[in-house]
Amino acid sequence: MTPIQSFGAAETVTGSCHFLQLKSGPKILIDCGMFQGHTDHDSADPFGFNPQDVDILLITHAHLDHVGRIPKLVKEGFNGRIIATRATMDLAEVVLLDSAKIAQEDYKTSLKKAKRRGEENEVAEPIYTIDDAKAVFDMNIQYADYNNTIQLDKGVSATFRNAGHILGSSTIQIDFEEEGQHKTVVFSGDLGGCIDTVMRSPETVPHANALYIESTYGDRNHRSLEDSVDEFKTAVVQTLKNEGNVLIPSFAIERTQEILILLKQMYYDNELPECKIFVDSPMATKATIIYNQNHKSLNKAAQDLFNKDGSVFDFPYLEYTLSGADSMQINEVDSGAIIIAGSGMCNGGRILHHFKHRLWNEKNTLIFVGYQVEGTLGRYLVDGAEFIHVYGEKIKVRANRMMINGFSAHADQSDMLKWMGGFETLDKVFLIHGERDKQEIFKKAIEEKLNKTVHIVEYAEEVWI
Ligand SMILES: [Zn+2]
Repeated sequence: MTPIQSFGAAETVTGSCHFLQLKSGPKILIDCGMFQGHTDHDSADPFGFNPQDVDILLITHAHLDHVGRIPKLVKEGFNGRIIATRATMDLAEVVLLDSAKIAQEDYKTSLKKAKRRGEENEVAEPIYTIDDAKAVFDMNIQYADYNNTIQLDKGVSATFRNAGHILGSSTIQIDFEEEGQHKTVVFSGDLGGCIDTVMRSPETVPHANALYIESTYGDRNHRSLEDSVDEFKTAVVQTLKNEGNVLIPSFAIERTQEILILLKQMYYDNELPECKIFVDSPMATKATIIYNQNHKSLNKAAQDLFNKDGSVFDFPYLEYTLSGADSMQINEVDSGAIIIAGSGMCNGGRILHHFKHRLWNEKNTLIFVGYQVEGTLGRYLVDGAEFIHVYGEKIKVRANRMMINGFSAHADQSDMLKWMGGFETLDKVFLIHGERDKQEIFKKAIEEKLNKTVHIVEYAEEVWI
C-alpha cells in the first residue's frame, strides 16, 4: 500500500499540494500552491513534510493556488526534477514573478507604516523574493507533452493530458508497480468545462484505481455560456452606440484571452462598432503572448482565428498598453473605448485609475466577467455601491454595471460527471479542491449517478491506495 497525503486543497479550494510516497520509488509531489483568502492554513507555515525528501514535482497548471509555494519549496531544500507542460512553466514564470513583486512591494509599504508606529519587528517578511521565484526556473525542468508517457523511475511513469482549464493545464496519471501489482492514480488538476471560449474540452482518461478530482463547482451547474456571450455582446454594442466606454476588470490568465477572442470574433462577424480596445495590464499582455505562441493547443475557434490572420487575439482595434504613461493616455479617449484591466476583483491594479476617470459617467458600462469574492471592491460594486473611494477621492458610481456569470474556467457538476463517465474502469474517487458543503453534494451525486465509492480528503490525512 502507498500513502498519499494532501497538504492543501483539502476541504478548501486553495493551496493544492499532494504527496505520493512510493515505498520503493520516488517521492512525488503534485502541485505546490498558495493558500488564498480565508483558510485555516497559511502559506508561510511549514509544509508538513521535508522539501528535501521530494524527488519529483509534477505541476497540473500555472494558477497561483497550484504553483504559489514552489519558490518556498526550492528555498527550503527541494532539489529534484520539475515536470510540467511548456505552457505551464511559461505562464508560471509570469505568475510567480508577479506574485513575488506584489509581496515585496506590500512588505515595503507595511514596513514603512510599522516603523512610524515603532512596530517594525511585527511585520512578517514575504514568503519569498523575486530572486527566490527566479530560482525555480534554474531547476532541472522537464517539459511534458500531452499523451506522451514519461518514465519517472523503474516501473513508474506519468502521463499528462489536456485538462481544458487554462493553457497548459493537465490531468496527471501516475502508474507504478507495487508488491507485484500495477496501480494507477489520476489527479484531475482543475478541469475545464465541455464548452469553452478558448480551451478544448478535457481529455478522457481510461483507467484509475484512485481518482483525485477537484470539486470547486461540484454542487451546481453553470448558466449556459451562449447566454453569457449574448449578454456580453449586447452590453458592449449598446454602450459603444451610446458613445460610452466599457470597463472590464479581468484576470490576466484565461479570462482576458476569452474576452479578446469574443471581441475579435465580433469584429470579423461585423458585430463590433468601431472602437479602441485596450489591454491595460502588463501581466495579461505577457499571458496573451504565451497563449498565442501555443495556439495549437487551443480550441477550433481560436485556431480558425489564427489561421485567418496569423494571430488568435490581435486585430486592428486592439492595443496593448505596457507602460504607465501609455495607460494614462487612455484617459484622453472620450468615448468608444473598451478597457480590459486588472486586477480581476479590483483590489488593486490599473482598473482603479479607470474607475476614477469613468465610473461617474452614466454613459459607461462596467462589466464583471468573473466571480467577485466578498470583501473585494469588485463585490462592493456588484452589490450596488453608490460611491467608492479611489486614491483618496470619492467617486459617484453612475455607470451601468452588470455581472455576467457564465464565463468559467471550471467544469460544473454535469461536466465533471460526464468526464468521469468516460473512464473505462474507475475504482475509487477522492474529492479535493472544494468547500466541504459543496463536496458533500458532489459526493452524493457521484454515488447516485455513477455508483462509485467517494471519499472527501482531509488535510494531511493518509490515504492508502
Ligand atoms: Zn486553476
